[in-house]
Amino acid sequence: MPELPEVESLARFLRQRAAGRVIDRADSAAISVLKTYRPDLTALRGRVITDTQRHGKFLDLVAVPAADGGQPAEGPLHLVIHLARAGWLRWRDNLPAEPPRPGKGPLGFRLRFTDGAGFDLTEAGTKKRLAVYLVADPAEVPGVAALGPDPMADSFTVEALAGMLSGRRTQIKGVLRDQKIIAGIGNAYSDEVLHAARMSPFKLASSFTEDEVRELHAAITGTLREAVERSAGLAAGDLKAEKKSGLRVHGRAGEPCPVCGDTVREVSFADSALQYCPTCQTGGKPLADRRMSRLLR
Ligand SMILES: [Zn+2]
Repeated sequence: MPELPEVESLARFLRQRAAGRVIDRADSAAISVLKTYRPDLTALRGRVITDTQRHGKFLDLVAVPAADGGQPAEGPLHLVIHLARAGWLRWRDNLPAEPPRPGKGPLGFRLRFTDGAGFDLTEAGTKKRLAVYLVADPAEVPGVAALGPDPMADSFTVEALAGMLSGRRTQIKGVLRDQKIIAGIGNAYSDEVLHAARMSPFKLASSFTEDEVRELHAAITGTLREAVERSAGLAAGDLKAEKKSGLRVHGRAGEPCPVCGDTVREVSFADSALQYCPTCQTGGKPLADRRMSRLLR
């Protein structure tokens, strides 16, 4: 599932590929994908992509009216995309001119430029969470409006992080992936950050000392920056493989920790599972799986 580093790479990729191209048509190929009604997708016709921005895990393509339109001045439209857990963007150099037929396949949305290039948004699996919004202002998207600070921004300082943790009696794993507190980190990179920081995912946010906040801050910015650099220059199609190979503990239960050689373990957390290294993060003691012990009682 794409998180900040992958979405940042997709934004950079689209800044090169899509900028300057004129939109031929945009079509939703699955009922639930498009979350907004006005303006409808035909409003994109003839507009030019000028930029692609990232807000947390959201992509935002900026489309302005073509210069020679001769129409009264209109503001930019933002095509905002949330790939959710199983969504992905596939660039295509040669898309068919006719719109996609809605069906049961993975195709959720298609944007085609007048030169035939464009991209498909696909989503694997049965849970459909891929979301597309067409808005005049990205803040009209509730998920964007609610985002906390971006950890890649200069304003994300040690002091800022200390403020986010202070007084919060919740487990740090949950804090890190809460988009309203910090934007862009999900299940995978929260595991990676906590492994890099050598901290238990169950540690309470309110219990962090000044030194621990500094260590966590370094782990957040270092892990994300490294991941963005690794995927820089990769085509959209190669990003998923790169993400998997770059992860040290996430999705690697049963494999040796690349730092100490102990076996990476897994424990249930919220609606999914987290992975961690006992030697690096919890003083060698495996975390109790609460869901499991509840079931056994
Ligand atoms: Zn380890």
